[in-house]
Amino acid sequence: MDYLPITVRLENKNCLLVGAGQVAYRKLRHLLEAGAVVTIVSPEFSEQLVQLAEQNNLLMLKEKFNGSHLKDIDLVISATNIPRVNQQVSELCAEANIWVNVVDNLKLSSFIMPAIVDRSPLLIAISTGGTSPVLARMIREKLEWLLPKNLSNLLVKLQTIRPLLKNTLNTLIERKGFSEWYLDRAFAEQIPERESPEQSLTKYLSNGPTKGKVYLVGAGPGDPELLTVKALKLLQKADIVLHDSLVSDEILKVIRKDVKLFDVGKRAATKSAKQSDINHKMVFYARQGLQVIRLKGGDPFIFGRGGEELEYLKKQHISFEVVPGITAAIGCASYAGIPLTHRDHAQSLMFITAHCKNSEDTMDWKNLARKNQTLVVYMGLIQNQLFVDKMIEHGLDSTTPFAIIENGTTINQRVVTGVLKDLPLLVDRHQLISPGLIIIGEVTKIATKLNWYQHSNLINGLAVDNQNHHVDLMMSGS
Ligand code: SAH
Repeated sequence: MDYLPITVRLENKNCLLVGAGQVAYRKLRHLLEAGAVVTIVSPEFSEQLVQLAEQNNLLMLKEKFNGSHLKDIDLVISATNIPRVNQQVSELCAEANIWVNVVDNLKLSSFIMPAIVDRSPLLIAISTGGTSPVLARMIREKLEWLLPKNLSNLLVKLQTIRPLLKNTLNTLIERKGFSEWYLDRAFAEQIPERESPEQSLTKYLSNGPTKGKVYLVGAGPGDPELLTVKALKLLQKADIVLHDSLVSDEILKVIRKDVKLFDVGKRAATKSAKQSDINHKMVFYARQGLQVIRLKGGDPFIFGRGGEELEYLKKQHISFEVVPGITAAIGCASYAGIPLTHRDHAQSLMFITAHCKNSEDTMDWKNLARKNQTLVVYMGLIQNQLFVDKMIEHGLDSTTPFAIIENGTTINQRVVTGVLKDLPLLVDRHQLISPGLIIIGEVTKIATKLNWYQHSNLINGLAVDNQNHHVDLMMSGS
């Protein structure tokens, strides 16, 4: 550890800011927020800085820095762009044992300033020891997203309630229980703005901890960055997660380590037994007052049986919420560079599944085989020959282009393109396996042009003669 993070009380401390440009302005704002008494020395002052200094009645010395400025000073920030001056400030501070930060210069600084997330009284400081301010900023942005916007207010409220808590809840464990309940609600953004601390306590005492709930959450197609902010927040506060096999390992990694995780997708049991087991588990844990996440690949309401599971919960009087996810069609199309609609090629879009046993009889084949539309087929790899035959039989041109996206949006993404009549052969030849999504329509031709995803492996399966001798063009992502 090269640096020890400490938080310094600067209220009424004498701080010197050397420099009065844009960088100095930013530093000045931080110093003022911390209540420091700031003197600024610089031969020139930017207008912005003068304004802020005047508002706060600060001493502005319009002159060059010299050693006498350090008298009675506790801490110095040097924010000039003149190396010689920065050097001088640093040396004189070292001699006088004054803490100094020279902006963007580790060598000349005795302390450095971290990136901060300010939800005072909560303060998070992120330091990369000066190695990557960009990384610090990126982490800060991620944390900003995760923390409730009004956390400051809520923490202050929580603080004011302390004496009351001590009188009402006897043991430390009880008080801890209340704080956890309160902060859980804060993170779920469930505390109304106007709820007073007393009201919170009454609510807690009358209802007890929040009742168990099931969140039906869509995990998106694979890339963890495609999780919604809401899904991410829930995954970090859940007690129990029941997930499908389609949910990628990268996504499972964002779940808190102490969460009970059930993979309910890979069991070898029969379908109905499996479903009843899942239903039973959801109800069982929710009844214990726990927060249960039912995590599904893509969107839970698109070929995900989300509706059926919620109907069951409803019958059992378990409360629930639904968090949508990016469905495979949207995710895979984006990452394969296929615009699902296009003014020249497709004015309508259909999502279908070709998995049902009796789909052969129930499907509206005529409609599916229409021109000028894009057809997205979920779970279509297995019975693909039958599907292709039916489509051609009902009038779709056998040379209609298609794309199959395997493991879409993940680093293992493969995209195979070709024409409809060759689809079964190409599935076989490239050993395409689940999860794979079939997109049929003129728009799929654009994949070759707009293939942007760097991990994508694009294979153009081209038919060259009638003896089924094929030439495939391999292209990787740009
Ligand atoms: N609820 C999910 C779909 C579940 S059905 C959603 O909204 O996406 C499962 C089918 O989805 C798979 O057989 C495959 O056709 C498709 N699928 C899901 N994720 C996929 C991925 N990453 N790449 C390709 N296809 C995917």
